[in-house]
Amino acid sequence: MTGSSARPRVLVLGGGFAGVGAVMKLKKADADVVLIDRHDYHTFQPLLYQLATGLLETSAVGHSLRDLVQDQENATIHKTSVTAIDLDARQVQLDGMAPLTYDYLVLAIGAEVNFFGTEGAAEHAFPMYTVTDAVRLKEHVLERWEAADKDPSLVEDGALNVVVVGGGPTGVESAGAIAELYRGDFEKDYPSVSQESARVVLVEAGPEIFSMFKPNLRAYTEEALRERTVEVITGEAVAAVTPTRVTLSSGTEIPAHTLVWGAGLQGNQLVQSLGLELERGNRIGVGPDLAVPGHPEVYAVGDIAAIADARTEHPLPQLGSVALQSGEHAGGTIARRLRNEEPKPFKYRDKGTMATIGRGAAVVQMLGGRTMKGMKAQAAWGTVHLALLPTNEDRAHAVVDWAGAALTHQRTGRITVRTDGA
Ligand SMILES: Cc1cc2nc3c(=O)[nH]c(=O)nc-3n(C[C@H](O)[C@H](O)[C@H](O)COP(=O)(O)OP(=O)(O)OC[C@H]3O[C@@H](n4cnc5c(N)ncnc54)[C@H](O)[C@@H]3O)c2cc1C
Repeated sequence: MTGSSARPRVLVLGGGFAGVGAVMKLKKADADVVLIDRHDYHTFQPLLYQLATGLLETSAVGHSLRDLVQDQENATIHKTSVTAIDLDARQVQLDGMAPLTYDYLVLAIGAEVNFFGTEGAAEHAFPMYTVTDAVRLKEHVLERWEAADKDPSLVEDGALNVVVVGGGPTGVESAGAIAELYRGDFEKDYPSVSQESARVVLVEAGPEIFSMFKPNLRAYTEEALRERTVEVITGEAVAAVTPTRVTLSSGTEIPAHTLVWGAGLQGNQLVQSLGLELERGNRIGVGPDLAVPGHPEVYAVGDIAAIADARTEHPLPQLGSVALQSGEHAGGTIARRLRNEEPKPFKYRDKGTMATIGRGAAVVQMLGGRTMKGMKAQAAWGTVHLALLPTNEDRAHAVVDWAGAALTHQRTGRITVRTDGA
């Protein structure tokens, strides 16, 4: 037993889908559950692009972690960064507070952006992984439009052009949403700016976008992007980025003051220091019950883990539903072990692969191969993602925001509020 309490301590690192799922499943456990996150909120990443394009407010994408565990008698939270983890000593170092030891550890600190060493990307690209990233992108785009409104010569220089890297869901969803923002609200907001001089370009290094979807869904997506005036370039990687130019591998230079990076992820860098053998993408390989090999008291879940699908033995994708279900499984398993019950293997319940391209345009591919597109797919996307939201209040909030946006097409969040007095 750890610390001054007589109860075992379960330390959950990370308050994303995986960490929150674990904490919730430990609600009735006879243990002290301690949740650590560097933010005081849970981030709903699937909606970041809606925050970045002013469709949703910050509070619809970030939910207070303290609020989430308010009614959980055995849980406490610390808002701090994990700086080191010693698996042998069972101790975690934290920024600005004393280290904590544990009886059980849930590693759920997620993934981070991978720029694959692209020149200038770390300095000038806009990743889409955190609330800060989304707000930064929104403010940058708004600032460029305001600057171009004052100085039209900036338009020639590509101030309003956006290049989005990555033909997977993050890239496609971001490109579609930015194009809708441009051709909808900005067309009315900035009538003096010609929309032809504000390009949205999606760049994918592979031969096609949405390679994880069937050909009919890929064709539908390409058409939906075209309708939204997104230019799609495939078979080209981004080679270099400066504040005003994007250079492709062929040498083509695109004048663009904004490059959105939706191309790659890797496990949180902290995993490098754990002395574990890591799998592709800097992820921790886990056993069938999600325990870390050699450390049966440690579970790795969500984006940080390489979890093999019990059915196919292929690694599961980095998705919200995988993170939530694996976190719940780890929390449930620890609760079982505390009751001296045997752990069970993790079985993922696949809800399908899905993505939204824009208003009324979405694609869904079900486990058995069935596909859906358009409004029907968007409704399915909404149902699955509403289930991922942490509370009923959040679900109600999201429904009101989505319905409001669908009816009015208004992006009320397209304002810049600075706290530095400028
Ligand atoms: C733009 C975007 C769109 C997406 N769209 C979809 C979608 O439509 N559907 C879908 O299913 N999935 C989607 N995903 C994937 C999904 O969001 C992730 O798979 C999921 O969030 C992973 O959950 P997690 O709990 O493992 O990690 P995260 O959600 O990343 O949570 C990790 C937590 O750990 C904390 N943390 C990290 N490092 C530290 C540290 N050193 N100290 C303390 N705290 C730390 C972070 O603050 C964070 O709260 C999307 C992802 C992105 C980025």
